[in-house]
Amino acid sequence: MKIIMKFGGTSVGSVAALQNVQQIIEKAHRAGHSLVVVVSAMSGVTDKLITAAQQAEAGDETIAHEVRREVEARHAETTLVLPGESPARAAVMQYVSTLLDEFELLCHGIRVLGELTPRALDVISGLGERMNVQQVTAVLNARQLPAVAISATQLIVTDGRHGAATPLVAETAQKTQENLSPALDAGKIAVVTGFIGATVAGAPTTLGRGGSDYSATILGRALAADEIRIWSDVNGVMTTDPRIVPTACTIPRLSYVEVGELAYFGAKVLHPRAIRPARQANIPMRMLNTFAPEHLGTLISSAIERNGRAVKAVTAIKDMSIITIAGTGMMGIPGVAGRTFSAVAHTGTSVLMISQASSEQSICFMVKSAESPTVINALKAELARELERRDLDEITVQAETVILAVVGAGMKGTPGISARVFGALGQHRINVIAIAQGSSEYNISLVVAQGDANTAVRLIHDEFGLGKA
Ligand code: ADP
Ligand code: ASP
Ligand code: MG
Repeated sequence: MKIIMKFGGTSVGSVAALQNVQQIIEKAHRAGHSLVVVVSAMSGVTDKLITAAQQAEAGDETIAHEVRREVEARHAETTLVLPGESPARAAVMQYVSTLLDEFELLCHGIRVLGELTPRALDVISGLGERMNVQQVTAVLNARQLPAVAISATQLIVTDGRHGAATPLVAETAQKTQENLSPALDAGKIAVVTGFIGATVAGAPTTLGRGGSDYSATILGRALAADEIRIWSDVNGVMTTDPRIVPTACTIPRLSYVEVGELAYFGAKVLHPRAIRPARQANIPMRMLNTFAPEHLGTLISSAIERNGRAVKAVTAIKDMSIITIAGTGMMGIPGVAGRTFSAVAHTGTSVLMISQASSEQSICFMVKSAESPTVINALKAELARELERRDLDEITVQAETVILAVVGAGMKGTPGISARVFGALGQHRINVIAIAQGSSEYNISLVVAQGDANTAVRLIHDEFGLGKA
């Protein structure tokens, strides 16, 4: 079989983790599979690189030097997985050091110019993946496995939207055939950088935070892979985030549509954009645990399984803001909703949830809190006349809110689900700020205050008996 395996940040962050990665890959290789291994940066590295670049823009270059030392120290620790005094370890450290030189130079330039362009940020934020690919390749080579490092900038061709680029399907397929398939045909294990790509003109881009999952499915589609395996630090997709509810259980099977809802609404285990390429090419995905490789995890396919449970999972997206536009004169303003959302769209912000009361006296929608100031300014400009005439009262923001989503294909047509959700919350006096139901009926989403979020997740999880007995 042709298999894409993606290892996330925590799967490569320690000697023990790298040893597991080594064994997982070795086993699949010895079983005769053709393998593409997509790797992320070590956990926390991308955050550090980005912070340093932002601090450099603000005039402080010292953070960049600190980050250099920290990242170098982490690699020095993890490369201990390689045999002592080996030239391989020295070569990896040399490579890491060269990229970190580049990083410091870039941060210096940013500090001098006082400007961090989206393009420069993409170059910097993708450095962690580039370092790690060399490390993982060396680790495999040390076990006599025929691994070769390949940069995704040679494979994934994207548009020029820095920070959230979209792949160009035909171009990516062609590049992948040219630059990746020959290695696979020669029996090599291709180790590819997650998260990054390049435009047709060769400018480096990134696919959005957490985007290595997306890299894996983009390559899976380009190669018509038989399976995509996403290795992380949990036993597959669970009934909720196990960090919030320790009794959360693995969901053995999910459809693309269901996992799409879960990922979109905050189940961090899979990037929401990663589902589409797999779904289009109908490639099954397995979500697996690097630290418990025998666990079956979750199988994602087009099949919708009715496991007798209407609700399969509950998720939360934190740090959201609810923006409300209200006014008794709203009824008379033609196209107010259209104008509102096109103004928001022009800022490049995505709206995660919308609800409009039927009286047409208010529209409210959710955006990430970090994006709310930009959105408010755009709306004030667009609706200036209506605000001045008092047709609209005001535009308000409530920060520190959370979207909860209750997901499951069996909810379609099952009456009484919402009543149970709201009943469970009401009994514990948790106030629901807004509600929306997706037309797919695979999900009900609601908004609560950030302080209530974890309790609300637990209550819903219990109400539907999702946890371990
Ligand atoms: P990686 O570095 O492997 O990409 P992430 O940190 O991006 O891993 O995603 C894995 C994390 O997602 C888990 O550690 C878990 O805390 C979190 N998570 C949130 N919701 C869920 C869920 N429903 N099922 C499994 N994990 C979840
Ligand atoms: N390293 C990148 C990030 O932290 C991509 C990923 O982990 O998937 O966003
Ligand atoms: Mg991730």
